Amino acid sequence: MSLLPILELPHPLLRKRARKVRSVDKKLLKLAFDMVDTMDNAGGVGLAANQVGELQRLIVIRTPEDDEARIYINPEILKRDGEREVEEGCLSVPGYRGIITRSVWVRFGALDHESHTVKFKAEDLLAQALEHEVDHLDGILYLDHLESHEKLIKIEPAPEAEELDEDEAPGEDNSAGPDNGSQDSADQMKETPASMKVN
Ligand code: ZN
Repeated sequence: MSLLPILELPHPLLRKRARKVRSVDKKLLKLAFDMVDTMDNAGGVGLAANQVGELQRLIVIRTPEDDEARIYINPEILKRDGEREVEEGCLSVPGYRGIITRSVWVRFGALDHESHTVKFKAEDLLAQALEHEVDHLDGILYLDHLESHEKLIKIEPAPEAEELDEDEAPGEDNSAGPDNGSQDSADQMKETPASMKVN
């Protein structure tokens, strides 16, 4: 098991578009499994390769309902419909949550870890996570979907992260600046299991 460092805003790779994966080889699968470990360790629901510094179209997801982590290569939102308001966070934007609009359902397609094509319709948290992670591959963060600054909520830092408070960017209140570690993401996941700690 290898844990990878999770990049945080304003790291430039979070704003880059990831490249299509040409072949699902051992190296890519190693990255995928390490991303699963990293996601699970951080208490996240999903992780995109950009977030660990790899510009490849690869995402991993594990909702509370998933026994097995999902690994998707070259994922695409094929269709989406409806609007619903959700609360969302991101491991790359620690210390914040936001209220944004996501689709009611999506039709999704990708390759799985065995290079098989998968297509399905998803709703609820899974749909939200798929939209969030595919956004990452296009350099989009959930912050980009905020309608106003008031919709961004600062989370009280976990006690373990208190010493990092001084590092907060002065005067930053409307974009997620550097903040505490990922500890509070994990805590929050426990507090609100079915609500949205998408990453
Ligand atoms: Zn994220």
